[in-house]
Amino acid sequence: MRNGEKCKQCGACCKTLTFRVPLSLSKEMYKKTIHFYLTRGCTLKDGVLILPYPCPKLVDNKCSINPIKPEICAAFNGQGEEEGYYIPDTCVYK
Ligand code: SF4
Ligand code: SF4
Repeated sequence: MRNGEKCKQCGACCKTLTFRVPLSLSKEMYKKTIHFYLTRGCTLKDGVLILPYPCPKLVDNKCSINPIKPEICAAFNGQGEEEGYYIPDTCVYK
């Protein structure tokens, strides 16, 4: 976390789907797979494919189901970038 800052509710972590193409693929298949997603609206950053896809539960930049949001959302704390999680550049936890 940057300087002990708290979540500034920018909503960036709720506006994308992200995934990593397995490095276990052959070099050729890896390149083809990346190309497939880049031509379908994804961007690639540090090996992570990022698809703009705002969560339908995000309303006015806030989670409309906060008390019952999925466990993975509740657990998000900006950690795990080295394990492949995508942390938005604007996130205070980065
Ligand atoms: S459920 Fe709530 S916290 Fe989870 S991605 Fe959607 S808006 Fe964000
Ligand atoms: S990206 Fe970071 S600062 Fe922005 S809403 Fe998500 S957790 Fe909070």
